[in-house]
Amino acid sequence: MAGRAFVRLAALSAISLAIGVTAAVTQPARGAPTGSRIDGFTAAHSAAERQAETEFLKLPSTSLAQELDAYLADKTGVVGTSGDRRRVDYVVDKLRSWGLHPKVATYYPYVSSPAKVSLSLTEPTRQALPNKEPCYSFEHDCANELPGYNALSPSGDITAPVVYVNYGTIDDYAVLAQNGISVQGKIVLARYGKVFRGVKTNLAAEHGAIGAVLYSDPADDGNTKGAVYPDGPWRSPEGIQRGSVQELWKYGGDPLTPGYPATKNAPRIDPANANLARIPTTPIGYGAATPVLKNLSGPTVPKSWQGGLPFSYHFGAGPATLHVDLKINYKVTPIWDVTAEIPGRNHPEQTVYVGAHRDSWTYGSDDNLSGAESVLQLGRAFATMMKSGWRPERTIKLATWDGEEYGLFGSTEYAEDQGSRLNNAVAYINMDIAAGKDFDASGMPSLDHLLYDTTKEVDWPGTKGTIYDSWSAANEGKQPTVSRLGSGSDYTAFIDHYGVPAVDIGSSTPSGDYHCSCDNYYMESHYIDPGWHYHKAIAQEVGLFTMRVADADVAPLRYSPYAGEVGDYLTAFAGQEQQQLGDQPVDVQRDIAQAKKWQLAAQKLQEKADRLLAAGAPAAAYAPLNRRLAMDERALLTGAGLPTRPWYRHQIYAPGINQGYGTQKLPGLNDALFLQHDPALARQYERRLYSSLVRATADLST
Ligand SMILES: [Zn+2]
Repeated sequence: MAGRAFVRLAALSAISLAIGVTAAVTQPARGAPTGSRIDGFTAAHSAAERQAETEFLKLPSTSLAQELDAYLADKTGVVGTSGDRRRVDYVVDKLRSWGLHPKVATYYPYVSSPAKVSLSLTEPTRQALPNKEPCYSFEHDCANELPGYNALSPSGDITAPVVYVNYGTIDDYAVLAQNGISVQGKIVLARYGKVFRGVKTNLAAEHGAIGAVLYSDPADDGNTKGAVYPDGPWRSPEGIQRGSVQELWKYGGDPLTPGYPATKNAPRIDPANANLARIPTTPIGYGAATPVLKNLSGPTVPKSWQGGLPFSYHFGAGPATLHVDLKINYKVTPIWDVTAEIPGRNHPEQTVYVGAHRDSWTYGSDDNLSGAESVLQLGRAFATMMKSGWRPERTIKLATWDGEEYGLFGSTEYAEDQGSRLNNAVAYINMDIAAGKDFDASGMPSLDHLLYDTTKEVDWPGTKGTIYDSWSAANEGKQPTVSRLGSGSDYTAFIDHYGVPAVDIGSSTPSGDYHCSCDNYYMESHYIDPGWHYHKAIAQEVGLFTMRVADADVAPLRYSPYAGEVGDYLTAFAGQEQQQLGDQPVDVQRDIAQAKKWQLAAQKLQEKADRLLAAGAPAAAYAPLNRRLAMDERALLTGAGLPTRPWYRHQIYAPGINQGYGTQKLPGLNDALFLQHDPALARQYERRLYSSLVRATADLST
């Protein structure tokens, strides 16, 4: 899974199709001007840091990326399978061979697997619809390639006429209603894109559908974009996007142990009360979707609903009728997170996490062995530097997570197992799809400046400039926008449940390999990152970012811009109240004023930090500042959790209930007022937010 997948879809049309770009030989990393003081460091410490960073930047390599991927992506790696275990053993062996001491943490989530997935058209003609992809000679684990399948769907044997619902979003259901089309008792056919697939299933169920079939339309990532796999990077008619349909916006992790670790003997909730999908849901390719779409009557769909198949789409219902027969087995299954620690020299109790999921839907070269391999690159680089005496100031913890694709299982269970120990986590850095020519990053506003600083110091393959230069060029030469985190990857438990400042760093090449059997070594080495240069560059960027957080005298968390943004969100909320309700049932003026006070307190603390750093004050002088900075994000949590979803505790950001990956800002206020339509509840959340803002201010005030 990766929130980025949707950013990527959005970017597809805008960005040139220069796939298979042969990256120029990368120049040595440029490094910043020597002698300048690094933000957050004293002058003396800056010099040492520069030296260590220069050393580090030489270590990630294209050959290691290729070597790791050739092994890891040679077999499939679905959570809890022998292919997954094979990856665990390899990762452990590698980390050990470099001199680290990896640990395997085992958890026991509720995992589904497809015993039978069968689809056929029963009207107007009878026709079985394929849900297996062809297997090519360079795919080495064909027997274990799962059929097209949506994890955490219920079983079901259903037959019903089909309605085409476009992307299956809230807005799409409004269009259906305007056209007098009901999905009651029907099977919806929804194309992938725009929102998390679990939202499509959920909205279909809410509107009375009895099943959902999801397909990849060629207009989004298929043959209308260019040559298809294996001749090119785009999705072939047979290519299927697998994926979880868990109700992720309710909580992440194991469906049966929300809020606590899925240890072997943990108490488990009734699956009927878990965040599993409610109606049978299964995916197909656009080849299989063609006879269904072709046989829909009813009015012609609006222009924006027309996909890339060469005939005009209709809403239905029917006459196309589908028979969907799913037998999905559920079983509590062991999964394995692998972590390795680089102990900090001066603040061993403070931890910087770097994580990426290691499980995949099929081979997963792109999603997400690219990220997991970068974690390993850091492991080798840091282990090498330790041999010549280097140690980070704070502890760095490297993780390859399991079970992300099913619902962020490994990272969430690990975080819940850490519990209050995560109060010592300074930041969590995530990768999920970390290879390709389009760089992207999202995260908390407190870390924007560090993304800008570090991307200016790493060369970007195939260009004469840095990552920052390319990132900025993709944003019309302006300062790139760092999007805020919703959900869809392993940062979720860290930021949304525990308030650990998080960023997600990665890059992608426009393609149609998302969650299909074509996401493999062949695709990666031919189209996504020939030469493995982007793999190396992302490892350099993430390593540099990690070192800055780990080593800084003053933790590089900036709450002044954060507070400014929160003020803007509050103003926008007040405007939306006025616009939608013609009234302001929730008064947020005191919150806006408090956000300003918070901003001022953050500014003052930063000025004080800068004075001390410029004067080269000794390490002890920064300890009180670091304590304040490290905990400030936690002030934004509410113990009560958000309306209807107590697991999500962050009051500034959460995944949107109707988006899943997309970000809902001020989710307590917005969900209560605009989704629950409950002004009294919204006022309750205003009080919670206000006291959080007061605390965030007090925590920074010296
Ligand atoms: Zn992923």
